[in-house]
Amino acid sequence: MIGLGTINIPALRRGQNQSRSFQSSQAAATLAPRSSIHHLRFAIHPQVSAPNIETIVSLAKRRGFVYPSSEIYGGLGSAWDYGPLGVELCNNVKQSWWRWMVYERDDIEGLDSSIILNRLVWKYSGHEETFNDPLVDCRECNSRLRADKLIDGKCPNCGSKNLTEPRPFNLMFRTHVGATAEDDPDALVYLRPETAQGIFINFLNVLNASRRKLPFGVAQVGKSFRNEVTPGNFIFRTREFEQMEMEYFVKPGEDEAAHQEWIDACHQWFQSIGISSGNLRLYEQPQEELAHYAKRTVDIQYRFFPEREDEERHWDELMGIANRTDFDLKTHSKKPEDAEGRRLNPDSTEDLSYFDESTKQRFYPYVIEPAAGVNRTVLAALMDAYSEKTNDKGETRVILRLHHSMAPIKVAVLPLAKNKPEIVGMARAIKRSLQPVLRAVYDDTGGIGKLYARQDEIGTPFCVTVDHQSLEDEAVTVRDRDTWEQERIKVADLQTHLLLRLAPEVGTVVVE
Ligand code: ATP
Repeated sequence: MIGLGTINIPALRRGQNQSRSFQSSQAAATLAPRSSIHHLRFAIHPQVSAPNIETIVSLAKRRGFVYPSSEIYGGLGSAWDYGPLGVELCNNVKQSWWRWMVYERDDIEGLDSSIILNRLVWKYSGHEETFNDPLVDCRECNSRLRADKLIDGKCPNCGSKNLTEPRPFNLMFRTHVGATAEDDPDALVYLRPETAQGIFINFLNVLNASRRKLPFGVAQVGKSFRNEVTPGNFIFRTREFEQMEMEYFVKPGEDEAAHQEWIDACHQWFQSIGISSGNLRLYEQPQEELAHYAKRTVDIQYRFFPEREDEERHWDELMGIANRTDFDLKTHSKKPEDAEGRRLNPDSTEDLSYFDESTKQRFYPYVIEPAAGVNRTVLAALMDAYSEKTNDKGETRVILRLHHSMAPIKVAVLPLAKNKPEIVGMARAIKRSLQPVLRAVYDDTGGIGKLYARQDEIGTPFCVTVDHQSLEDEAVTVRDRDTWEQERIKVADLQTHLLLRLAPEVGTVVVE
């Protein structure tokens, strides 16, 4: 149902929110008069996030966020390329996570380890033996399927229940290093299926170089690879993806409290980048789902599938926060022994234990691991930001209400007349002056209404329009993506004005 709406415009500072009603107008898409604030009246669809992933797939391709990879050769199942706006959005997600995780805290260091590690890392981490999905074949249509993802034991392609018994399928991609024979077992290596192991094997390096004491963490962002049996749902499940992981090392006994703190902090972080709490939920993994090393794992799920009938199936994993106990540091250490006194890891040359000066005790730290996917975060941000607005003419516009920190472009500078060299020159100069402090673009590829619509659809928070009057009064019109409100601002004040309005606490629009 479409209804007339009232929106709250957040004021520049917290605690000053005020509700204002807007008068509709087709002027929404045109340049407003030079008076300070222009009131608009419009209809709002109650829907405030994407109705399904398909809606985002077409927007993403049309506007240059994400393209199917290798399309001119027929594509490659589950591979996607990030276009001009997609790469900016991915970078914003990673930068925001890094700033929050590493810069704003005093107990986390950063790391960038190799994608290809010594094969023994994956032997002792348990991945060679246990990083498997249960694979079944459909005897009717020959599809290969993940047994744990079947609904009612049926093949999703043909509905048959005539399936083979599940068998383990290892998800690690194999390759070979050096100019050796393909079947030389000494040359076998894997592309990492998670970034975490690169952190564990560098535990002593970081500890010694940074002179850290527990608790402290090591964060890493990078590509991981899994030969998923059934990739799909756009960028939700791909074979090549990016992870943002952090391993937080704590004293045994302090692990449970630290785990809960990280669950709460991560839940909060997703909201801080604009994802609404109503589309997020916490999922406590039941005992039978836990990885063999985990004491407790809580997933943060996002409502990726709102179109599904069964409410329970709306949700899927955005990130996992696991208490991995002391499994990882112990398994990569040379000292631990079995009951008969044999070394559990005869290949390691180091002991990754920690000496606590205050208690004079040596032990293996417990590890709390918040692990999020960049691509799933990008998908959640896009779905959550998607909204539609219909004007008086019945035209429906897509508005991507991305959080300001996520918007690929912060400001578009638009000349009202592209055949007037003075206006074009002024607009280009304004763009150049803004660029050192925020991502700005210049665009003169259409009429002003089209340009506004395009920027709304890609989530640009502000458009700055240079018109004939600007040449005389040294002022421009600043248009707000979410309200279509327009304000006349002196060029000399423009940068400060935009930076204030782009501040993190501004930018949410609440539809009443
Ligand atoms: P799933 O159960 O969905 O396969 P997982 O529990 O195996 O995921 P983790 O090993 O906990 O995933 O990885 C941490 C995060 O990495 C996930 O929450 C997700 O955001 C991301 N991720 C994992 N696998 C993929 C994939 N194939 N494609 C995209 N992102 C992924």
